[in-house]
Amino acid sequence: MIRTNYHSHTTCCDGRNTAEEMAAAAWKAGLLAYGFSGHCYAQHNLDFCMTPESTRQYVADVHALREQYRGRMEIYLGVEAELHGEAPTFDRDYTIGSAHEVPVDGGYLSVDHTEEILRRGVTEHFGGDWYAMTRRYFTEMARILEVTGCDFIGHYDLPTKFNEGGRCFDESDRQYRDTALEVLEHLCRQGGVFEINTGAMSRGYRTTPYPSEPLLRAIRAFGGAIVISSDAHSADAITAYFDQAAQLALHCGFRTHRVLLDGRWQEVAIEP
Ligand SMILES: [Zn+2]
Ligand SMILES: [Zn+2]
Repeated sequence: MIRTNYHSHTTCCDGRNTAEEMAAAAWKAGLLAYGFSGHCYAQHNLDFCMTPESTRQYVADVHALREQYRGRMEIYLGVEAELHGEAPTFDRDYTIGSAHEVPVDGGYLSVDHTEEILRRGVTEHFGGDWYAMTRRYFTEMARILEVTGCDFIGHYDLPTKFNEGGRCFDESDRQYRDTALEVLEHLCRQGGVFEINTGAMSRGYRTTPYPSEPLLRAIRAFGGAIVISSDAHSADAITAYFDQAAQLALHCGFRTHRVLLDGRWQEVAIEP
C-alpha cells in the first residue's frame, strides 16, 4: 500500500479544495506523509499557476498544517516548478520539475490544457506533425534537472495526455520513441527521479498512469528511481489508482519507490 503523496494542488492554484481540506483527506486516507506542490508562479500562464499573493497564502497555510498534524502525519511544502517559467522564490522541502508547455514561435503551446488547444497548436506551429511537437517537448525536457534542480520529474510524457488509444499519434513509432528514450537515458544518467503519476486517470483523460509502460521499463533499465504520485486536484483523488500504479511499478521490475520521510528522501519497498 502506498501511504505517501507529494504531488497535489489546492485552491491557491488550480485545485478544487483548500490545503486544509486536502490534508484532512490525506489523514483520513491513512497517509504517513503528504506534500503540497502548488504550480509555481509563471508570468505567462497565470491561469493555472499561483500568483505572488496566493503563493504567500499557500506557504502560510502549509506551515500552519505542518504544526497542526505534527506527530500524526508529516506535511511537506513543495512546489511544481515550470521548465519554462520563473524559479520558485520561497524556501521549500522539495521541488517537482515539470513542463506543461512546449515553446513555439512567439510563445508557448500548452500540451496539458485541452485537446482542442493542443490539436490546433500542432496544426499551426508544427504543420500537423505530432512527432515534431513531441521531439521539441522532450528535447526541452533534457534541461529539466539543471533548470529546476528538481527532486523528481513530473509526468514525463505529458504530451500523451489526450492520446488515449493512439488517437493523436503512435507512441510505438520511432519518431516518438527515439527522442523520448534518448532524453530519458540522459536524465537517468544525471540521477533523475521520475514520478508515476495517476492524475490524468482520476480526471478521466487516461486509463494508465504517466509514464507509459515502455518508458517505465526504460527508466528501470537505465537505473532511474520512481516516486508514486496522484497529482491530486481534489480531496477525493489523493490516493486514486495507487494500487494500479504500484502493480505497474512491480510489473516493470521496480522493487522500491522513493519517499520523503523524516525529512529525507529514501527508498522503501513497494508493497502490492
Ligand atoms: Zn503538472
Ligand atoms: Zn501537478
